[in-house]
Amino acid sequence: MELALELRKLLGDEIIADDPEVLAAHSGDKWFAARQPEVVVFAKSTNDVSKLLQFASREKIPVTARGGGFGYVGGCVPAQGGIALSLMRMNRIKEIGFADAVAIVEPGVFTAELKAAVRAQKLFYPPDPASMKDCTIGGNVATNAGGPRCLKYGVTRNYVIGLEVVLANSDVRARHYLLPSLPPAKPLKQCRRSSRRDSSHLHWRSPIISHWKRRDAMLAK
Ligand SMILES: Cc1cc2nc3c(=O)[nH]c(=O)nc-3n(C[C@H](O)[C@H](O)[C@H](O)COP(=O)(O)OP(=O)(O)OC[C@H]3O[C@@H](n4cnc5c(N)ncnc54)[C@H](O)[C@@H]3O)c2cc1C
Repeated sequence: MELALELRKLLGDEIIADDPEVLAAHSGDKWFAARQPEVVVFAKSTNDVSKLLQFASREKIPVTARGGGFGYVGGCVPAQGGIALSLMRMNRIKEIGFADAVAIVEPGVFTAELKAAVRAQKLFYPPDPASMKDCTIGGNVATNAGGPRCLKYGVTRNYVIGLEVVLANSDVRARHYLLPSLPPAKPLKQCRRSSRRDSSHLHWRSPIISHWKRRDAMLAK
């Protein structure tokens, strides 16, 4: 049976696309390499991703995850063809907790959108890739993105305290860490100036999910 037809039966018509414009739009990133996938799946939930990976792993069909498609190294190019898995419809900010400075987000949230949302609650999410208006938290975690602020505050990994991931065999695993890895050492003067709530941390849901746990516990030491 044709791949798109099988996937429509498995996941529903609404999240499957195989028309030429959509395939072309999901064949590359900002690098020069490109290859068209056979089908694009726009997952809307962890369950969609898990069902897709179970099918693809059984049928031995390559799957390439994709966020904003704003990478510079061809990471989301479906080099083996097969299925492009877009996480752009998993774009909800599920929770931003002021008290513990933890956000729970889905992977397709734009980085700039998360930054604005936490700022509205008087929190601060430091990672600032120049592409932040177009790239996603999922892509940031996969590439460990940083920006000018990384010199002082660290990169994406320093703000991830938990992930929910879907393995290739379709198992869903959630891992939570007590503290994020430490950002680069700061001069003592800057440490003293840091407020207890100078940053928020993420917990994101789905194929890439992160918890960002309280950095204030770390700063209090
Ligand atoms: C103009 C411009 C400026 C940039 N500036 C910076 C910068 O300052 N700092 C920096 O670090 N980078 C920068 N980048 C590179 C890029 O924006 C980052 O790598 C960003 O993290 C990519 O995110 P994305 O959502 O576009 O991911 P994509 O390009 O879609 O994917 C990148 C990689 O992540 C994987 N991936 C994406 N989402 C998921 C998911 N949910 N689960 C599993 N894997 C996933 C893909 O398979 C791929 O391997 C820049 C790029 C451009 C074009």
